[in-house]
Amino acid sequence: MAVMIENTMRIPVADLATIRLKCKSDNCGSAAEVPIIRLDQATLRCPVCGSVMRRADIDQVMSQLSQALVFLAQQDDLPFDLEFVLLTDVLGKNGE
Ligand SMILES: [Zn+2]
Repeated sequence: MAVMIENTMRIPVADLATIRLKCKSDNCGSAAEVPIIRLDQATLRCPVCGSVMRRADIDQVMSQLSQALVFLAQQDDLPFDLEFVLLTDVLGKNGE
């Protein structure tokens, strides 16, 4: 029996455009918004405090994430529709 989940929003993978990286340096909290397609090339510094938002092990995973999302978004013959489900109940709680 399927579980019906209400208050959700489905985002097709091809509609994902930007990843938002929120700075954790000393109460800064500013955000760098990076196009997914550029995530593996970006020199990531906080736009406000200049803190470096990179680390070698994370860079590799972020690059793989970018490549995977871009690759999947470009496929027009997937045997399924790939969507991300957001709970609309929590939308707005973490953004500004
Ligand atoms: Zn910052």
